[in-house]
Amino acid sequence: VFAAVVQAPEDPILGVTVAYNKDPSPVKVNLGVGAYRTEEGKPLVLNVVRRAEQLLVNDRSRVKEYLPITGLADFNKLSAKLIFGSDSPAIRENRVTTAQCLSGTGSLRVGAEFLAKHYHERTIYIPSPTWGNHTKVFALAGLSVKTYRYYDPATRGLNFQGLLEDLASAPSGAIVLLHACAHNPTGVDPTLDQWEQIRQLMRSKGLLPFFDSAYQGFASGSLDADAQSVRMFVADGGECLAAQSYAKNMGLYGERVGALSIVCRSADVAVKVESQLKLVIRPMYSNPPIHGASIVATILKDSDMYNEWTIELKAMADRIISMRHQLFDALRTRGTPGDWSHIIKQIGMFTFTGLNKEQVAFMTKEYHIYMTSDGRISMAGLSSRTVPHLVEAIHAAVTG
Ligand code: PMP
Repeated sequence: VFAAVVQAPEDPILGVTVAYNKDPSPVKVNLGVGAYRTEEGKPLVLNVVRRAEQLLVNDRSRVKEYLPITGLADFNKLSAKLIFGSDSPAIRENRVTTAQCLSGTGSLRVGAEFLAKHYHERTIYIPSPTWGNHTKVFALAGLSVKTYRYYDPATRGLNFQGLLEDLASAPSGAIVLLHACAHNPTGVDPTLDQWEQIRQLMRSKGLLPFFDSAYQGFASGSLDADAQSVRMFVADGGECLAAQSYAKNMGLYGERVGALSIVCRSADVAVKVESQLKLVIRPMYSNPPIHGASIVATILKDSDMYNEWTIELKAMADRIISMRHQLFDALRTRGTPGDWSHIIKQIGMFTFTGLNKEQVAFMTKEYHIYMTSDGRISMAGLSSRTVPHLVEAIHAAVTG
């Protein structure tokens, strides 16, 4: 009965790793994957995560009962504090409802499903370009997806004017997806001053902000600095949604830990919104898994473990920043034509190199370097050992 099912293409991002795994070359490098690697190219489990897991395993009182539909209560409270700030008036006034969801993706999807059912304006504006999964997550939830200008290839920076114009001409009430920090794939973020202008414009038009926060702490190394955009929008008393992921900043990728928070105008509204979130979640997966959220809650509620986490997080962010400098310096030393300063200006896990599809294909074929076809490279997948090989490949691609 399934004979007519047609072969689907690989996912454009995850497919890069599939191709990499098939390549027998000893010099191959995977810069497609959005996951942290050590200097030795190995996945990293944070010490503080191991410590938390040990505590959990040793606690014989722990059972494996179902969590509530919205997940672990402690985890939800601590996650809201992490993103909105521990002194957030919205939290104090009980205007925030938070649901533990399946990492960032699941949080976005639950938020999208909720909006499709309960919000009057079904159009969401996402930046161009954006993380490839955004379009599908929102469209399949029933929202109509439009884009706003974001990246300017000429400057390899923000197209701020284009962004403002597009948001200004969006219908009033439209939803706007904003990357809280470390925009993926471009690594280009608005300045605080620009964020303030975006906030004013969006509030004046009644546009609803939906923040995607997949990299808090990972961009600058500071959890507070990376949440500033979100906090600006919460400080004005207005509504917003925020999807958080602990994949990158706690290295919990496969544990699928994240949270959706909805900031409402009043505690009353927040209670009703939460009741509807439960109706969205129950038929999707009933309730979320317990292990990853327990790790996060254990770390966030213990000041000693929290501090240890911030140190390990900063070390990951610093290694990525150092890779940016090493790559930039090496390209300059090699005399590779072009202005590569965007490598050190962009932030977060990725560099949007500006290399085109043909150049990417050439680098994969001739140098066994794997990356998405839009020229995005994961700085976290790079090490001092692999920088020279990458520089040779880029040099050949641009001069060849
Ligand atoms: N949003 C953005 C911008 C991302 O880059 C990612 C991860 N690549 C996610 C959301 C979701 O990640 P996850 O579901 O693994 O938390």
